[in-house]
Amino acid sequence: MLVELINTGSELMLGRVLNTHQQWLCRRLADLGYVVTRQVAVPDTAHDIEPAIRIALAHADLVITTGGLGPTSDDLTRELIAQLLGKKSHRNDAVLAQIKNYFASRNRPMPERTAVEALVPEGAIVLPNPQGTAPGLAIEVKPNPFRTGQKTSWLIMLPGPPRELRPMFDDFVVRILRREFPLEAAFVCRTLRTGGMGESIVQEKIEAPLRALVAAGLEIGYCARIGQVDVRLSAQGANAQTTVDSAGKIVREQLGEHIFGTGDDLLEGVVVRLLTERKQTLALAESCTGGCIAHRVTNVPGASAVFPGGFVTYSNETKQKFLGVRAETLAQHGAVSEAVAREMAEGARKQTSADFAIAVTGIAGPTGGTPDKPVGTVFIALASSRGTEVWKMLNPWERETFKEVTAQQALDRLRLMLQKLCKTP
Ligand code: ATP
Ligand code: MG
Repeated sequence: MLVELINTGSELMLGRVLNTHQQWLCRRLADLGYVVTRQVAVPDTAHDIEPAIRIALAHADLVITTGGLGPTSDDLTRELIAQLLGKKSHRNDAVLAQIKNYFASRNRPMPERTAVEALVPEGAIVLPNPQGTAPGLAIEVKPNPFRTGQKTSWLIMLPGPPRELRPMFDDFVVRILRREFPLEAAFVCRTLRTGGMGESIVQEKIEAPLRALVAAGLEIGYCARIGQVDVRLSAQGANAQTTVDSAGKIVREQLGEHIFGTGDDLLEGVVVRLLTERKQTLALAESCTGGCIAHRVTNVPGASAVFPGGFVTYSNETKQKFLGVRAETLAQHGAVSEAVAREMAEGARKQTSADFAIAVTGIAGPTGGTPDKPVGTVFIALASSRGTEVWKMLNPWERETFKEVTAQQALDRLRLMLQKLCKTP
């Protein structure tokens, strides 16, 4: 099956907007067993969009377009496609009512131009858009005048804004794909997420043990992220489920505690879940991460039950004032030291009465390094009723990556401790 993706938007060509639809849709489609065979991005002009659609329809069984369904003068996709396919568009009263309702429920007048979003080409299926106004559209191009033998293709138009496109794909497009393109053989895919190891080490550990399954059709993919490596196991065919199950078991045996989750699990989500299950709390004392860990923890719904608060103590003074770090410790060891990390964690724990406290102090750079403590040096402390442990790490990346890696490492230390405690309470 050939799948082509056309992302429209002059802002993509100008580098003003990152083409996240390309990644998101390719990923979702692949997880469902439909791998995108070709992808193009084109500006919002008729003479760019039209040939892109023509070419895609000449090859592909499924063509997905994104963007250009809105009411402005650069939103051309719907009308261009209707013209290209020789279809008349008609006002769809149900869609118009939904659009009116969208504005009414927000106490806003409906701009007149928005009514164009209710125009639906003949024969198109309307994909509702509860997050916005412009519906998506799905058309069975039958016969397909652009394709050899006029072989049928499907053309699906999705809106540009990610918060509209994503639920529309999950709630409506998947159903059409399953119905129109049933997979010839079952496709099974599982992702295991790991922390604390680079991708080549992960591969080294699992490659040989999985060799027999690879020969039997298992596919392995590695995706290196910041402080995290995802292992994707997939297989197709009658034995797909058993193959992926066996592979998952082997990977778990080989990587053990390094695996923190599956699918789209986030480390902060796992940490909040473990703390919630144990009815325990976490406080933070952040220097070089500047609140990055607190940000991630508070992105998780339900964080309030486990996170009383955190301190961003960037100067020596605030480390002393809010966390009780001693002047002698700072003078003797410097702010970036095992001793200060320890006092920060213990101070945060004391101030909040939390069960756990994480502290980080390090040198983000680009300046401030010494031969003894080069740029990227960071100390991560974890305080609990069992005492305080401190780890020294070296994360010599630019500032933003440094913060993210450090946050990931710190959360992973807590995750490991919580998982151990779950096993041996
Ligand atoms: P609207 O009704 O908002 O005009 P639309 O369906 O016409 O929606 P566009 O105008 O093409 O879509 O894009 C709307 C917004 O969606 C853009 O400003 C951009 O921020 C975002 N967007 C569009 N395409 C992409 C893409 N490929 N990746 C990420 N974001 C995108
Ligand atoms: Mg638009």
